[in-house]
Amino acid sequence: MTKPPLDILLCAPRGFCAGVVRAIDAVEKALAIHGAPVYVRHEIVHNKYVVESLRRKGAVFVRELDEVPDTRAPVIFSAHGVPKSVPEAAAARNILAIDATCPLVTKVHREAQLHHRRGRHVVLVGHAGHPEVVGTMGQLPDGAATLVETVADVESLAPAEPENLAFVTQTTLSVDDTRDMVDALRIRFPSIAGPHKEDICYATTNRQGAVKRVAPAVDAMIVVGSPNSSNSQRLREVAEREGCPLVRLLLRAEDIDWSLFGTIGSLGITAGASAPEILVEEIIDAFAERFTIRVESVTTADESVFFPLPRELREQAAE
Ligand code: SF4
Repeated sequence: MTKPPLDILLCAPRGFCAGVVRAIDAVEKALAIHGAPVYVRHEIVHNKYVVESLRRKGAVFVRELDEVPDTRAPVIFSAHGVPKSVPEAAAARNILAIDATCPLVTKVHREAQLHHRRGRHVVLVGHAGHPEVVGTMGQLPDGAATLVETVADVESLAPAEPENLAFVTQTTLSVDDTRDMVDALRIRFPSIAGPHKEDICYATTNRQGAVKRVAPAVDAMIVVGSPNSSNSQRLREVAEREGCPLVRLLLRAEDIDWSLFGTIGSLGITAGASAPEILVEEIIDAFAERFTIRVESVTTADESVFFPLPRELREQAAE
């Protein structure tokens, strides 16, 4: 039986960013230097496949530091960053801590700290409960920062000193939504200090840009990623807003609902910054079993960003 044709448009860039590559490399390097177990606070990146494969190699994932026994094994902090209290607690217990916070998240931490030192109240644009937001809020004393999630939140802000404000943002937000929120902040508080645009990272911006190009041109779109991955969820939203009639965020090929995807003529595929390429390939293979596929890459940006391993690991490797 001949298979129906299917055009697949692959978004580029997609998948792993430099911060995720660095965080995964940090766990693997720590295992190579110290042997198993290596403790990791929170999911090192938001992807079950990545977490499970590191677990099989000897990584032990914990939610909080107090779940780590007294040990000489290292504890790695995830790419999302941690509140200041976490490395302080690790130091108090003489735990060998390795900080795999993405340098672009650390940059936001520094901005927030600088504004605080200059006496400004910090407005953080982000999603409540996300580990990056918890980590950024945790750089400042209680009450020194206020989280806003929507333009309505901006409208209802009632700061004690409206002329003495600054803003920073989560790195993995929707570029369009954040622009609206930053515009609203600047209209309400014209003297607010902050970055030129926002703190959304290059990887988030580039992946959303590729989806904007592909989503209007296809019958359906698959975003490969985890439901708890902020940047993957934003890719799904961008594809929906661009008018793609069928958009699904899927962890891997076994999650494809063939009653929805069995009759399409064109498909866009992207992957969140924490989703490995092998899962994209798995999905393409699943479609190739049912369709005669033609795959085309749609490139909207070139990426060459690289972050060296965390300093602690480079020193340990040198020893
Ligand atoms: S998505 Fe951006 S901020 Fe997050 S780890 Fe990747 S490069 Fe860093």
